[in-house]
Amino acid sequence: MDTAQPTIDTRLLIGADFVPGEEPGEPVLNPRTGNLILDMAEASAGQIDRAVAAARAAFDGWSRTTPAERSAALLRIADRIEAEGAAFAALEALNCGKPINAATNDEIPAIVDCFRFFAGAVRCQHGAVAGEYLAGHTSMIRRDAVGVVASIAPWNYPLMMMAWKLAPALGGGNTVVFKPSEQTPLTALKLARILAEELPPGVVNVITGRGHTVGNTLIHHPGIDMISLTGDVATGRKMLDAASKSVKRTHLELGGKAPVVVFDDADIDEVVQGLRAFGYYNAGQDCTAACRIYAGRKVYDRLVADLTAAVSTIALAREDDAENEIGPLISLRQRDRVASFVERARELPHVQVTTGGMRMDQGFYYQPTVVAGARQEDEIVRREVFGPVVSITPFSDVDQAVAWANDSDYGLASSVWTRDVGRAMATAARLRYGCTWVNTHFMLVNEMPHGGLKQSGYGKDLSAYALEDYTFVRHVMVKHG
Ligand code: NAD
Repeated sequence: MDTAQPTIDTRLLIGADFVPGEEPGEPVLNPRTGNLILDMAEASAGQIDRAVAAARAAFDGWSRTTPAERSAALLRIADRIEAEGAAFAALEALNCGKPINAATNDEIPAIVDCFRFFAGAVRCQHGAVAGEYLAGHTSMIRRDAVGVVASIAPWNYPLMMMAWKLAPALGGGNTVVFKPSEQTPLTALKLARILAEELPPGVVNVITGRGHTVGNTLIHHPGIDMISLTGDVATGRKMLDAASKSVKRTHLELGGKAPVVVFDDADIDEVVQGLRAFGYYNAGQDCTAACRIYAGRKVYDRLVADLTAAVSTIALAREDDAENEIGPLISLRQRDRVASFVERARELPHVQVTTGGMRMDQGFYYQPTVVAGARQEDEIVRREVFGPVVSITPFSDVDQAVAWANDSDYGLASSVWTRDVGRAMATAARLRYGCTWVNTHFMLVNEMPHGGLKQSGYGKDLSAYALEDYTFVRHVMVKHG
């Protein structure tokens, strides 16, 4: 058992009530040490029913509040998270193993800003012009709430994914039953305390539990109108199966395998610094991680050498957490999954593991790793590793680079590195990804959409487009006399 712990809430929020889960659930572990933080009970079938019923009961009132009222609530929630930012960051760092500086300085401000962005966006929606499209009748467009949303989040950015899901859903006038990952429920249960004080009862309900039990019951529930998932592709398919039974709306943010195209004229020092940061941030547990590098033949050798040197200096597992740049993997299972990808790659005669490639004998840490010489057909190039592992593949010309970059089951994020703006624009236009960065990677802003193509899913998080996804378009026609 870990001793130095922040205060931990363990109760579920159902309607106005904080209640313990009624079923045995999962142990929640500290990934730095592997030690138990606590055993988290999970929601029973009856509690899931009550959470959905509470959200349904709250829908009529909440969906008819004015945008100004919903905006004010989102602003209050943002202020409360900001005021308790240090405590949220400490809890997230404990549960996920994130370096405290990353949680405090990167995540909390982005989470606060997400609520503030949607507080503004909900008051500024626009659309088609009302008018007499049929003589004697006025037509207008409305955007109304979808209903009760089942929001299901992953473990890599627990509170941030909660913000990405709640802010547009609430701004749009929906009510929510939220389920965090069974591995990372702690910040969601802390935020539940704030939500219960700032929102009418039932507008948000927070229930804990595993995917195949609580999640599965929730997505099949007849009282749910929309399913919003950030998670694995296989989980996304289960959402689609469940949604097909009663034709629920779905919003799916699934995996990624971001290609990074480095042309011969790129600033290699910048590329190396960028990859060191954006390939390994959050220990690579990020669906946009810069993990699949294609390098022009003239710069390939230098890039491998310089990236290897840079990655070998990434600070992790240090006693003074302020020095750490990345943390461990979330679980033993995830650490061993990452290790097995690297072991299989290492067996290939053309592959060189130039740094890292080993488990560490503490918690769930894995060494930051560079896999050079990888080929397009290799598993390490094709499958999502979701760990601190970057592959590098040399390419001959732009057509080959674009073809390889696009030859993926995923379509979430990509980047192009070159000093030639024309080449950057032409290449970006050909990439089949929800986002392409030029001479950077990974940077998100609340004003711009995040979401993918192909098996990365569909629907946008962040931006006014997310508000569109959590509302639906209606036509109202009025006959004049
Ligand atoms: P996961 O799919 O295993 O779990 C995600 C959530 O789904 C969890 O809350 C889990 O309990 C729930 N779940 C699992 N099975 C379920 C079922 N049968 N019914 C209902 N709910 C179920 O994913 P994870 O391992 O927590 O997260 C890692 C994955 O998430 C990676 O593949 C990553 O790429 C993806 N991800 C995508 C984005 C994005 O924006 N595209 C962001 C973060 C993570």
